[in-house]
Amino acid sequence: MPELEQLQDVGEFGLISRLTAGASPGCGVVTGIGDDAAVTTLAPGMQLLTSTDMLLEDVHFRRSWHDPYRLGRKSLAVNISDIAAMGGIPRWALLSLAIPADMPLDYLDRFSAGFLSMAAGHGVSLIGGDTCSSRAGLAISVTIMGEQLPAHILRRSGALPGDEIWVTGTLGDAALGLKLLEGGFDSAQPPNAAQPPNAAQSPNADHRPSTALPPECALSGVEGNDFLIARLLDPTPRAAVGQALATSGLLSAMIDVSDGVLSDFGHIAEQSGVGGIIQLDKLPLSAAFMASTHPSASPNYLAVSGGEDYELCFTAPPAHREKICRVMKKCGVQATPVGIVTSSREVAVLNADGSRHHTANAGYNHFS
Ligand SMILES: [Mg+2]
Repeated sequence: MPELEQLQDVGEFGLISRLTAGASPGCGVVTGIGDDAAVTTLAPGMQLLTSTDMLLEDVHFRRSWHDPYRLGRKSLAVNISDIAAMGGIPRWALLSLAIPADMPLDYLDRFSAGFLSMAAGHGVSLIGGDTCSSRAGLAISVTIMGEQLPAHILRRSGALPGDEIWVTGTLGDAALGLKLLEGGFDSAQPPNAAQPPNAAQSPNADHRPSTALPPECALSGVEGNDFLIARLLDPTPRAAVGQALATSGLLSAMIDVSDGVLSDFGHIAEQSGVGGIIQLDKLPLSAAFMASTHPSASPNYLAVSGGEDYELCFTAPPAHREKICRVMKKCGVQATPVGIVTSSREVAVLNADGSRHHTANAGYNHFS
């Protein structure tokens, strides 16, 4: 059997052409990969949104759990989620990798196929990046740019006392998926891992079946566990939902749920100068979460403080409730009111009987 091709066989420039082989020029790209800088054009009247996120081996992911295809997808998905949280349209991405010298090229090919499949599913063009060698594991840095009309850009700072607090989708799935992996559950390979780099995803990736299961869908045992783990390893950024909500003009503030709804709503509260009450029994749970017999699934702390669901949390006046439901129905994604914004400057979580819930964890914090 021939030995796997290694990085030193192709060199840096060979690697870059492999990584970018499936990238196609997209909307607003005047000059893409291959010059000293990319040149892009915003659509008339649009403002530029920019965000960046790092994924580090053994901090954010483990190579033994995370297959390269889904790691590639996730490294872009978490960035798209930040553009979605502002109501923006994701457009262009830069990908920088620090790569251990002994990493097989096949791993990077599959990573790149995953990255480009997420890009194709959301109309994002890879327009540049950087590669270098790493002495301490794989490091992935993605910068994403998007655009939106100024009037439609949603910030964390607009929530008002009396607004309702909403979340899309279901919460706690990714955190429970992590508990399963930590407990030794073997994650199945992704069904779409063999897709070629340019295989187009559904134009509205918010409808991908892995995360669009209706709440009544019965899932249990291994199948349910695979769903929970897929929510961790291959999250669906709510890009189409974020844009639909932002352009509806019905919301006062929005954020994506990357560190748990308690922590992320906390950022809205802080920047809006308000507080809030989140009702534990209102938090939407997936069928797989509810069917899980894992000790962490009950009581449902993970739904309040578990990270990495990449859903959206937003606030809106109660009078907009019906119109919001109509927008969400069009998007094919559920949204649930889970609490109320208050003027108290404090965020509290209440149990179903009205007593105060003392959560053991207020979300993930890298430096605590
Ligand atoms: Mg965010």
